[in-house]
Amino acid sequence: MNYIEAQRTADRCICGKCSGNLVVMNNKDGYYLRCVNNCDLKVTGLRRLKSYTQIYLEGGMLPVHISNNIEKKLKKNR
Ligand SMILES: [Zn+2]
Repeated sequence: MNYIEAQRTADRCICGKCSGNLVVMNNKDGYYLRCVNNCDLKVTGLRRLKSYTQIYLEGGMLPVHISNNIEKKLKKNR
């Protein structure tokens, strides 16, 4: 895994067990991900975070500038 891949996964996913954030680590073999609470990600797996659009459609709370952008995007697609 290269750094960009690892960072992207860390941004989009959380720990499958404790929902903790993922941090990008690196060793001689390259970059890898670790749960902030030290869960073994090989066992617990990763869980994808919901996208902002998904949260918006479910009526969740979002920063105003983000919900405005999503509204614009959805109108365009209609
Ligand atoms: Zn965890």
